[in-house]
Amino acid sequence: MTTIRDLFDHNRAWAAEMERTRPGFFTGLVKQQRPKFMWIGCSDSRVPANQITGLEPGEVFVHRNVANVVVHSDLNALSAIQFAVEMLKVEHIMVVGHYGCGGVMAALHGSRIGLADNWIRHIQDVRDRHKALLESLAPERRADALVDLNVIEQVVNVGVSTVMVDAWAKGQKVTVHGWAFGVHDGLLQDLGMSVSSTESLESLYPAAVARAAARAG
Ligand SMILES: [Zn+2]
Repeated sequence: MTTIRDLFDHNRAWAAEMERTRPGFFTGLVKQQRPKFMWIGCSDSRVPANQITGLEPGEVFVHRNVANVVVHSDLNALSAIQFAVEMLKVEHIMVVGHYGCGGVMAALHGSRIGLADNWIRHIQDVRDRHKALLESLAPERRADALVDLNVIEQVVNVGVSTVMVDAWAKGQKVTVHGWAFGVHDGLLQDLGMSVSSTESLESLYPAAVARAAARAG
């Protein structure tokens, strides 16, 4: 069993190996972070942003919460997005869901799990918005479809935030993407919702929803 002591041992070994293979790596990081990417993902321990994408320390700015939800009253998420866009000038923001997400499944089935019920209510809103679509699918396909739909809706939430509206109005080049990760195969899927302007938000949405339905159909 892994102990806390092991974590420090692994950390020292990792830092030594990094310094051995790439001398100066850490002193370079001290100067600044200049990531091109922001990751908005689920807190689930099986979906680590850096490992999945092969990105190193300093290369991706990460915000994670239960079921990768972006809520307009969530100062934590919005502050992270604003910092990423205005200060770091990231070029890509990825909203990344994952199949088998406990938060999405709880939302689909209306299960009560505690304090998070209030958070998951946002995903139930997604479920209710796409009720007819979800009900047209075989019951065992609905969870995966809701994972995709949740990502698509959260891309919209990022895109209509004041941060993105202002950035795009100023001509800043930043694209918001919607991806889903397969815990079962380790692969990322692009959900076809890569938005780089307020206009493309509206034009891409219907096709992305239709694709989510087709994937699950
Ligand atoms: Zn999850």
